[in-house]
Amino acid sequence: MIDLAEAVALVERTCLPLPPRLVRLLDACGRRLAAPVFADVDSPPWDRAMMDGFAVRSAGYPPGDSIAEFDVAVDLAAGDVTTLEIAAGACARIMTGAPLPPGTDSVVPVEAAVDGTAGMHAGGRVRLRDGRFRAGQHVARQGAAFRRGQELLAAGMPLGAAEVGLAAEAGATHVMAVPRVRVALLSTGSELVSVDAVPAFGQTRNSNGPMLAAAVRLLGAEAIVLGIAADRPEAIRAMVAQGLAADVLVLSGGVSAGDLDLVPSIFARCGVEQVFHKVRLKPGKPVWFGVLRRPESPATIVFGLPGNPASSLVCFELFVRPAIAILAGRTRDAWHLPRCRARLSGAAKAAADRPVYLPCRLRGPAGGREAEPLPWSGSSDLLGLAGADGLIALPAGGRVHEAGEEVDVVLRDTATAVIG
Ligand code: AMP
Ligand code: MG
Repeated sequence: MIDLAEAVALVERTCLPLPPRLVRLLDACGRRLAAPVFADVDSPPWDRAMMDGFAVRSAGYPPGDSIAEFDVAVDLAAGDVTTLEIAAGACARIMTGAPLPPGTDSVVPVEAAVDGTAGMHAGGRVRLRDGRFRAGQHVARQGAAFRRGQELLAAGMPLGAAEVGLAAEAGATHVMAVPRVRVALLSTGSELVSVDAVPAFGQTRNSNGPMLAAAVRLLGAEAIVLGIAADRPEAIRAMVAQGLAADVLVLSGGVSAGDLDLVPSIFARCGVEQVFHKVRLKPGKPVWFGVLRRPESPATIVFGLPGNPASSLVCFELFVRPAIAILAGRTRDAWHLPRCRARLSGAAKAAADRPVYLPCRLRGPAGGREAEPLPWSGSSDLLGLAGADGLIALPAGGRVHEAGEEVDVVLRDTATAVIG
């Protein structure tokens, strides 16, 4: 059995960022670019009408409130192009998004047509009022936003929606990024039934499966749900072998000291090297951690979490969270849940031999926070955790921490699928 801090440090030292590779643009959203993105086109790619109206040659028209008359030479909807040169005294009926035809340099909005909409199409004539025929008016000039060959997104930049749009405009179907971390989830236990079953006497719903999949997703990683394996070596081994193809394998159940706790020996037979088993921690003492190293490809990080749901989740937050964050290439400040100091609003009892984590509700502003311990029956009680804002972390020592005492609180994180 090792100390919690040492166990966390071992996880941090064992995990390495996954190597970046080309990933589909959309799969890279929420991640950082590993290589810059360059433009393969100018933006706009040509002089583009920004209003519905008439493309004209501005030269020769007086500024001010005059009215000028034009022959409409051609109609141009978005997507239409023409090589027709628009002469002085002529114009093109043009829609937003179409390229300006040769000979023109500005767009007079449709609202400037004096005689309404009749005759405004090719072959007709149009009289335009308020002829502020300024060169470039209502035109987005070619290359005004960026030029072909320009670096648009630098390596290291996080890809949000705008960045994905920009990369798409630049023709990047794929970008270099750390791929999404793939986390295989396996629940072990002959008593387990799926969530849609009504458990018979002696059976337990597999709540860890959805719970851990949710925790994985909230970190922006991919959850590969393997399902349930009964407590039989062949059953567990086959599914562990499958799970070892992922970047991380998180198994729950079967790691404590009972007769049927087969998992550590199966890991050993699958070539997974044990880094630690059992940590001074409550809940979560039986947690198992190891790594499958391969000569040519990245290692698979392996966790055996205790089966009791609350223990499982506490261990996920303390050990699996940093592992996923490190593999995803996130910066150190994003590896762990944030912590704060808070004053207890009621008594909380520490464990004699190991640090204890207790669900609490938080009140008050930062700096003056109060932590109210929630009713909680221990490692199988998810109700206490579900309403909690955080976990009070009490050091070993067995003493009762009274109301008013300051304690450490690990803040629960309900939406962390963000960049870091
Ligand atoms: P174990 O760690 O296998 O000894 O399991 C400890 C307790 O957690 C037992 O009461 C199990 O029935 C329960 N348990 C194990 N796995 C799960 C699971 N996937 N979902 C809900 N409870 C579980
Ligand atoms: Mg079990």
